[in-house]
Amino acid sequence: MKGRSKLGLLLLVLCLSLLPSGCIKQDRLYRESRVVMDTITTITVVSPSEEEALRAIDAGFNEIERLEHLLNYFSPESEISRINRSSGIRPVKVSRETIEIIKKAIEISEATGGAFNPAIGPVIRLWGFSRQDRAETIPSEEAIREALRLIDYRKIRINEEDSEVYLEVRGMELDLGGIAKGYAADRAIEVIKGMGIKAALVAVAGDIRGFGLRPNGQPWHIGIQDPRPPDDNPDSVFATLYLRDMAISTSGDYQRFFIKDGKRYHHIIDPKTGYPSESSIISASVIADRGFMTDGLSTAMFIFPPERAITLLESLGVDGVIVDINKRVYLTEGLEGKIKITNRAYRIR
Ligand code: ADP
Ligand code: MG
Repeated sequence: MKGRSKLGLLLLVLCLSLLPSGCIKQDRLYRESRVVMDTITTITVVSPSEEEALRAIDAGFNEIERLEHLLNYFSPESEISRINRSSGIRPVKVSRETIEIIKKAIEISEATGGAFNPAIGPVIRLWGFSRQDRAETIPSEEAIREALRLIDYRKIRINEEDSEVYLEVRGMELDLGGIAKGYAADRAIEVIKGMGIKAALVAVAGDIRGFGLRPNGQPWHIGIQDPRPPDDNPDSVFATLYLRDMAISTSGDYQRFFIKDGKRYHHIIDPKTGYPSESSIISASVIADRGFMTDGLSTAMFIFPPERAITLLESLGVDGVIVDINKRVYLTEGLEGKIKITNRAYRIR
């Protein structure tokens, strides 16, 4: 007994003399939520130092705000708005980064046969889904037909040499709402990593990217939101999984929608029809190593029937969890055994 307490004392003395602030500092989780990109964003950082953690969290949020200024459809000064205002008139000089993001969006369009469409702006504007004061009325068929003539993403012309973007038809409008949050999560993670942080999780609403391990040595534990939650628990989840150095995005028909005459009109538009997609999917999650990819693909998966969405994701080498209107859960092969369904109303097919 005596010997042991002496050893304890010795260790304590050693610690005190080696480190100014006491014994080896434990890693801890630091977390903060703010409203950015029109949604609640939470950044969690693992660090032994509160000061270092808060500085990294701040830098992450600043990065997301910087991107919001570049990409926001509603801010007249954003680069996207400048491109949109000049559609059919003249090319617009923008930053390299905006060009890169537009190229990534087009890449996802091509990978999904046009289901993802960054030129969907004129149709979204008609439906008014991204506005706070939306009208909740169904546009006329005539108006939708007109808008559909303006959404050909192959008419986005990019001139890399001069760093210019030109939308070839007057009235065309880019809307990067289906990819911006995932891209922002990517960038925030890069900035936080660059500050020497060893693990972090950035969740821009349902677009989440993580890296490293939690202080307990486990990967990040993620819940997928229940698309039909009980009234008394709107934030409940239906499934959980571990995420290690990956991104996950979830798109749902419950995010922004209105119900008219018993029918649900949500904010993901089928570019073929101009109406909210009528696939039986109510929630689509995609898991891959980059957030822009998971964000864009989760939006696009909404357009397909569930089985087709799964085979498409598998052919692209990424994972996904699709839920249909009957609460049947479809998984890519890579996820089998790796996801836990926590709500028994949902069943894996
Ligand atoms: P949220 O923004 O609610 O997280 P998503 O990532 O699924 O959801 O993005 C939905 C947004 O993407 C819409 O609000 C709209 O701006 C845009 N959008 C809608 N339909 C499409 C589409 N077919 N292709 C690309 N973007 C779309
Ligand atoms: Mg998306």
